[in-house]
Amino acid sequence: MSEFSKERTLVMIKPDGVQRSLIGEIIGRFERVGLKLVGLKIMVPTAKHVEEHYTLDPVWRTVTGEKTIASYKKNGKTPPSEDPLEITAVILENLKKYLTSSPSIVMVWQGAHSVGLVRKLVGGTEPLTSDVGTIRGDFVIDSYEMSDADGRAIRNLTHASGSVEEAEMEIKHWFSEDELIKYRLVGEQILYDVNLDGKLE
Ligand code: GDP
Ligand code: MG
Repeated sequence: MSEFSKERTLVMIKPDGVQRSLIGEIIGRFERVGLKLVGLKIMVPTAKHVEEHYTLDPVWRTVTGEKTIASYKKNGKTPPSEDPLEITAVILENLKKYLTSSPSIVMVWQGAHSVGLVRKLVGGTEPLTSDVGTIRGDFVIDSYEMSDADGRAIRNLTHASGSVEEAEMEIKHWFSEDELIKYRLVGEQILYDVNLDGKLE
């Protein structure tokens, strides 16, 4: 089978997705595109585990802070601080409260281009501007304006790894290798086997 078929990504259905009974709907979107579920658990992580998850990438604090400051300015608003790290500290505290509030589903999905494909299906970070047809665009109302006013993390239903490198770090953070199952799906033959000869009767 194609080497491409081995790419893996980490996906979480965050507490709001579980509370809103969207587990099946969200999982169905990854299944129907042809990805394979190779790891799955329901859990309430510790605040420490959540913080480690977001800071696996050493530049996440700076990049997210800078991005947030830029988006305040783009919308003609004054950011609460000019220091990216101060901004991210608040975001991280809110994320820890959100993700420890009730259970999440944590999954590993495998298949060609799984990282990019899942990001496409999940949609942009802020539900207000996520594309129609994406999980965040279809199932949730939320905006940075509203979540900032309420002093909480944006409720965007899902997390999905942003790159192959991020996925590798995140999968190791949430799963041990023996929790990930190696198996073949019957449907993978048509997705990855390029030879359609001999199908005519
Ligand atoms: P994701 O990969 O689409 O979830 O987005 P990021 O990795 O950029 O950010 C991770 C999380 O940080 C998001 O799910 C949000 O909770 C939070 N976040 C990112 N950017 C912003 C922002 O501009 N404002 C606020 N309030 N939170 C943000
Ligand atoms: Mg991210």
